[in-house]
Amino acid sequence: MPSPIGDDMRPEVELYDTTLRDGSQGEGINFSVMDKLRIAEKLDSFGVHFIEGGWPGSNPKDIEFFAEAKRKRFRNARLAAFGSTRRKGVAVEKDDQVRLLLEAETPVVTIYGKTWTLHVKEVLRASPDENLAMIADTIRLLKDHGRYVVYDAEHCFDGYKDDSEYALATWQAAEKAGADMVVLCDTNGGSLPGEVEQITRFARSRLNIPIGIHTHNDIGLGTANAISAIVGGATHVQGTINGYGERTGNCNLTSVIPTVALKLNRRCISEASLRKLKELSQFVDEIANIRHDPRQPWVGEAAFAHKGGTHVNAVQKVVRSYEHIDPTVIGNSRRVLISDLAGRSNIVMKAHELGFKIESDTPELKDILSRIKSLEHEGYEFEAAEASLALVIRKILKHEEPPFKIEGYHVSIRRDRSIFVCQASVKVIVDGMAEHTIAEGDGPINALDQALRQALVKFYPQLKKVRLADYKVRILDSSSGTSARTRVLIESTDGKDEWGTVGVHDNIIEASMHALSDSLEYRVMKK
Ligand SMILES: [Zn+2]
Repeated sequence: MPSPIGDDMRPEVELYDTTLRDGSQGEGINFSVMDKLRIAEKLDSFGVHFIEGGWPGSNPKDIEFFAEAKRKRFRNARLAAFGSTRRKGVAVEKDDQVRLLLEAETPVVTIYGKTWTLHVKEVLRASPDENLAMIADTIRLLKDHGRYVVYDAEHCFDGYKDDSEYALATWQAAEKAGADMVVLCDTNGGSLPGEVEQITRFARSRLNIPIGIHTHNDIGLGTANAISAIVGGATHVQGTINGYGERTGNCNLTSVIPTVALKLNRRCISEASLRKLKELSQFVDEIANIRHDPRQPWVGEAAFAHKGGTHVNAVQKVVRSYEHIDPTVIGNSRRVLISDLAGRSNIVMKAHELGFKIESDTPELKDILSRIKSLEHEGYEFEAAEASLALVIRKILKHEEPPFKIEGYHVSIRRDRSIFVCQASVKVIVDGMAEHTIAEGDGPINALDQALRQALVKFYPQLKKVRLADYKVRILDSSSGTSARTRVLIESTDGKDEWGTVGVHDNIIEASMHALSDSLEYRVMKK
């Protein structure tokens, strides 16, 4: 089969990720600025074409994100700030929300505007002409400032069904004002694939600029509607990783991407990236502190698991008999037949990414693989903790002793009326020398972090700038019938780079200590 996806060719379908904006509106999703930066970097290296970072006009966290993101260099993706058209009755130059969009200094700005007369008249309480002027004024101003402008036509399908002439007038107003594309949005998520395809064809026939699609999953058709729009001529698709989003979520890019590449055979992402799809999906869930859904299409643990005896038997004879696609192309694996070979090639690929020289015949590979498997069995997850993974590989590959050893620690918490005092003492050994420190902190983990860092900074001054940026705890299922285990994920930064480490133990303090120690060891090893 000729490859539908090429590395350096222009995509036939552009991928626009809005996990950080629309996705973060989902119940239970709360990204810190650091989380957002890590996800943006991951999306960029994966190869999406646009990353919508947030709405600077809606909250200060997003303003901070764009200020931080300015310092990053993205290799594949263009960063977009999201906002709305100017308010009614206000000159666009005087609109604060539009000003904040420009101040985000992103190459791309996405604005949404009203398509549906119901919204124009009853929600916005504006005249249809005023709404057209709001769309045109805002786009013109953004174009005057050199931005690539994506126009999101809100309630596009509902609006079209109510008054197709007015819907068309809004899209044409955007085109005439200089928008680079019009994105048809199924904001309420209740449209059907057939009508989405038909309305997309209509828009395509009336507009000269590219058409995009933005769907929601309220009746379980978010992905289907996005695919229908692409069949109808859309060349840009917006969605979120794992389908995060308001209510039942946005169209799931984790399903859309492989469907576009492997079922529609449209170029959208490289084959190498596609093989990292499952990893991307798990990474974002880990950062969001959400359990990865085993039944998720394409990337779920169960997506290619064969349990029924006849299925297993048939799959062993002819793989195609019970599988719609080879799971390895999206980084997933067949569960009954999980081969040592597949495990090996995944580790080799990951180790290369982390900068190790390792091949499939490197003698240490077997030990690395079995160590990782046993850690995973204990509850470790490395998708968002690559620094811990790098240490595991390094230790076995280089036969090196760690740069420091924690001999012991003690934590105490005391409450004195309303005042809490947390104190930690840590004893470490570096090059045969013992160092003993005591520190206080806001909580036990913070106190341990302070004490450990104080002990080590004398030997490794590079640790001075390291700080703990985020701390996440997950209680793991206790399948063995013993006590539940705790997984701790720590995100650290030295002001330049961010990295994640993980620890697992029955005891939350011990699990945290593993993750903390890995974080500092990783920074020391990095030189
Ligand atoms: Zn949306």
